[in-house]
Amino acid sequence: MDIQILRQAAGWGTPAYVFDLDAFALRIRHMKEILGQDIKIIYAMKANPFFTRTAAQEADGLEVCSPGEYAICQRAGVPPEKIVLSGVNKEAAHIREVVGGVGSCGAAVGNPGPAAGSPGPDTYTAESLSQLALLESCAAQAQGSPLRVLLRLTSGNQFGMDEETILSVIQRRNAYPHLHFTGLQYYSGTQKKQSGKIHKELERLDALLARIRDELQHEIRELEYGPGFHIPYFEGESPVDEDAMLANFRAALDAMAFKGSISLEAGRFLAAPCGSYVTRVVDTKQNQGQDYCIVDGGINHVNYYGQAMAMKIPAIRHLPQSISQGMPADHIPGENTQWTVCGSLCTSGDMLVKNLPLSGLRTGDMLVFDRIGAYAVTEGIYLFLSRGLPAVLTYERETGLKLVRGALPTSPINDGSIQYFEDYIKKENS
Ligand SMILES: *Cc1c(COP(=O)(O)O)cnc(C)c1O
Repeated sequence: MDIQILRQAAGWGTPAYVFDLDAFALRIRHMKEILGQDIKIIYAMKANPFFTRTAAQEADGLEVCSPGEYAICQRAGVPPEKIVLSGVNKEAAHIREVVGGVGSCGAAVGNPGPAAGSPGPDTYTAESLSQLALLESCAAQAQGSPLRVLLRLTSGNQFGMDEETILSVIQRRNAYPHLHFTGLQYYSGTQKKQSGKIHKELERLDALLARIRDELQHEIRELEYGPGFHIPYFEGESPVDEDAMLANFRAALDAMAFKGSISLEAGRFLAAPCGSYVTRVVDTKQNQGQDYCIVDGGINHVNYYGQAMAMKIPAIRHLPQSISQGMPADHIPGENTQWTVCGSLCTSGDMLVKNLPLSGLRTGDMLVFDRIGAYAVTEGIYLFLSRGLPAVLTYERETGLKLVRGALPTSPINDGSIQYFEDYIKKENS
């Protein structure tokens, strides 16, 4: 993202996330161009719920995994036919509500949900026999048309069901008169570097789809697959030729015997490049010969996949303060100092980067962490030390920067003073 925009964003205070909605929209469009318009893109919103509205416009659907995510979709006005209701824990009360088409939780802030009787989500995943029983009983009660259900195949963990269970469910499909088993779902994990692993998974799915067709005479129309595409975050990682990777992936899809429709669930790959995090240097010092720079953010807000923080150097930019604003220069380092960048938590683990070579870094300067659009905003350990939640801004060329969530204190969560939030909500609604 443009430096001027980030400087402007920092005017609302740091630390802050800035999410580029235009870049996110373009990324979905580009992915569809390379893969082909016949491949559907489903945005896994857990990667970053602040892209929900844009995803509803640009993607073919959203993967929604909790009542909270569902409430976000309702407030964003996501049409129900774009929602795939998923998740390892499908709460009975919530499923009952949404299958019945009753607008549910979250109506207190922003738009109310749809009126009673309006349709619920288009498609549901089923991850267990009890989820199937729940969906069947809710659908029977709602007396609408059968629910479209994707049976989730496990990848050897707590998610989904194994092949034998799936085969037996389809064999006993008459026991589920209100469910229509339209598809299979499969997602085995994120940051897959090797295309070989993806190809093996597609082969396994293809074999299972063939068995369902040949042995059970059941036509599975849809495969919803989460490829878990890799995003390089660190210096020294080989860059990915994304277009070539996607074209190669399309060729692997074409090689399948399965000829039904294919939907891709993607989170990180779509969102990661579309966000930056701006944090300000609040102190510098030298301890036992090591140059330290303390920033107002930290590991509570910055999160990269499977990476012991500070082992490698991520995509980072230095924004010097334009004019000295009278910050005391505690420590004037030499040229090309190797900085250890630490955050504001009281743990030696709060180290963002080790040995970051920077010239002329001063208190008051800003550091920008790029490629932070996925998971950082949802996976941060936000409550630690009762530090505040960063502000969140979105950017669109047409409308510019928009503050979508001001910095929020966490201390009311850490001592139960929830009156604070009640007052905040009242103020928002008035
Ligand atoms: C998280 C998740 C995804 C998205 O994974 P990425 O690696 O971020 O693309 C897709 N499908 C399911 C079921 C998920 O839980």
